[in-house]
Amino acid sequence: MRDLRISVTDRCNFRCVYCMPKEVYDADHEFLPRSDLLTFEEITRVARIFVAHGVTKLRLTGGEPLLRRNIERLVEMLARLGDIDLTLTTNGSLLGRKARSLRDAGLTRVTVSLDSLDDTTFRALNDVDFPVAKVLEGIDAAAAAGLSPIKVNMVVKRGTNESSIVPMARHFKGSGHIVRYIEYMDVGATNGWRLDDVVPAGEIVRAIDAELPLESVDPNYAGEVATRWRYRDGSGEIGVIASVTQAFCRDCTRVRLSTDGKLYTCLFATDGYDLRALLREGTDDAPIGNAIAAIWGQRADRYSEIRTANTPRIPKIEMSYIGG
Ligand code: SAM
Repeated sequence: MRDLRISVTDRCNFRCVYCMPKEVYDADHEFLPRSDLLTFEEITRVARIFVAHGVTKLRLTGGEPLLRRNIERLVEMLARLGDIDLTLTTNGSLLGRKARSLRDAGLTRVTVSLDSLDDTTFRALNDVDFPVAKVLEGIDAAAAAGLSPIKVNMVVKRGTNESSIVPMARHFKGSGHIVRYIEYMDVGATNGWRLDDVVPAGEIVRAIDAELPLESVDPNYAGEVATRWRYRDGSGEIGVIASVTQAFCRDCTRVRLSTDGKLYTCLFATDGYDLRALLREGTDDAPIGNAIAAIWGQRADRYSEIRTANTPRIPKIEMSYIGG
């Protein structure tokens, strides 16, 4: 257990068609009430227990984490936990405004999601007409604030943004930022995922390599999700996250805390363990730590290894709630 992902809100200002489709997350959708959310103090306490059990990397996510009010205060509290890699995944919409204060609060680096550089394609994908230029401004602000190396996540969906694969690589080549191509996954139950919508990692790498020659690179550490490739001319690297075609369950060191304090040992889980109940019942740190260790010790998740075209029917937790 090395990597804790904390969802700080189930809300988002985007309606990405593959994540929070408008038809489901409409005006009638009920998001969690405020009292259900873990407070910053509760999140920090749980994170401290995880760090004591070997977690070295904390990632704030959601929903859109920068929508959580005073998120910088949480960053500051978590940064005090010691020598940890403290990062955040964001759609970049508020990064231009917040990059500096996040850095000052102790954030180490940032991952920004951007699915296309083509403005029409991107606006259609986020489904709230949000322009590419504003996300690029956010990335520039993050770089200026020193939140590097910046990773840029691009989910690739067949028939939607394949034509953006090579332009994305070309744009960020030589910038020091690392584009990571993500196979479209069957997270949750609302995005209508089909195996045919997945563009396999091999195809992504071949498309880039044909124009910008690549060679493979060893992982930075065991359990790294992205397979690394670098440009043969030495101008940087990309990553490919092939969770559908090359599952990496056996090396998984990730655990997830939902917005309302449930612990999930897999992105594709159907059930979580209610840590918030323990926190609010006044349980001491030691029994909470023991509960976490027992859950981790018993985990047998390997969803991506046993996925078939039919498994998407399992009622899985939505990514906006469990955290991406
Ligand atoms: N709102 C933040 C953002 O946009 O980065 C954080 C949460 S978002 C759920 C985290 C990441 O999950 C994003 O990079 C998003 O593109 C990715 N994601 C969401 N649904 C996905 C899916 N079905 N398959 C693959 N990646 C997905």
